[in-house]
Amino acid sequence: MYDVLIVGGGPAGISAAVYLQRFKRNIIVIAKDHGALGSTTHIENYYGFENPITGKELVEAGFAQARRLGVNIHENEEVLSINGSGPFNIKTNGGEYLTKTVLLTTGMNRPNLRVKGFTTLQGKGISFCGICDGFLYRNKKIGILGAGDFMAEELEVLRNFSNNLTVFTNGESLSVSTHEYPVVTEPLVELLGVDSLTGVKTQAKTYDLDALFIAAGTPSASDFAVRMGAFVNQKNEIEVDPNFSTNIAGLYAAGDCIGGLLQISKAVSDGAQAALAINKYLKTITS
Ligand SMILES: Cc1cc2nc3c(=O)[nH]c(=O)nc-3n(C[C@H](O)[C@H](O)[C@H](O)COP(=O)(O)OP(=O)(O)OC[C@H]3O[C@@H](n4cnc5c(N)ncnc54)[C@H](O)[C@@H]3O)c2cc1C
Repeated sequence: MYDVLIVGGGPAGISAAVYLQRFKRNIIVIAKDHGALGSTTHIENYYGFENPITGKELVEAGFAQARRLGVNIHENEEVLSINGSGPFNIKTNGGEYLTKTVLLTTGMNRPNLRVKGFTTLQGKGISFCGICDGFLYRNKKIGILGAGDFMAEELEVLRNFSNNLTVFTNGESLSVSTHEYPVVTEPLVELLGVDSLTGVKTQAKTYDLDALFIAAGTPSASDFAVRMGAFVNQKNEIEVDPNFSTNIAGLYAAGDCIGGLLQISKAVSDGAQAALAINKYLKTITS
């Protein structure tokens, strides 16, 4: 069992990893890709570099620094679900892990769906959490939006509540099995309903639905937080106390996913502070 599993290998995750490793904690970092810095070509406001550097250079330097200290980093691995309440069970597309604490550092939460009707119908038949809301739609017509592992994970949850399921990939190519359930690949053009969702529309057809569960792309920190009952504000930022702890004991968050200044320096600082707080917390649960 790990002491800390860090979801994300950006400035917040790697900064926390460096501190926790030096505290001799048994840790692992799981990082899907280079995060926000993967698309950054010109950084000149971060301390210590005379000339501009690329995001890729900075991420790779961070990985090399952490690995030199002995940090175990699983690159190109995606966390799909987090369950339990300490120990936590983490499922990825590469395996399963047990850990005493989790630090979420997955960067900015994913953008909202840009389809007409999405904003007005959120919470009125549009849900981001099968475990939270699936029972409300028992034996009803349920749509799931997504095309990859995250969608497949949500599908497994929703199958417990209804057999009337349709997968909407919204133009993406499907990369996982959907069992026997129908799949609509055309992009959605509108979500229908006034007081609550009544259906979705593609260019070609309208589909009646009682609920649409969104599980597109990669789950972000707020997706995990919502499923675990951690507080998330209206801007989709995870709410933490001054120790970077969520309202769930053992679940921490840092960096862009908690909002504030969306900059490398702040993410690095968050990671360091979260590491100190987690180390302190681990002493209380192991003593
Ligand atoms: C185009 C652009 C330019 C920018 N330029 C600057 C700049 O010049 N200076 C500056 O200070 N800041 C800049 N920023 C902001 C800066 O990149 C972020 O503030 C910083 O990277 C946040 O760090 P983080 O660790 O919180 O998240 P990120 O750096 O986004 O890291 C998130 C990590 O989480 C991982 N992840 C996400 N979901 C999962 C999952 N489900 N499973 C596993 N891993 C997951 C990602 O792969 C990544 O490793 C820029 C951002 C962008 C987008």
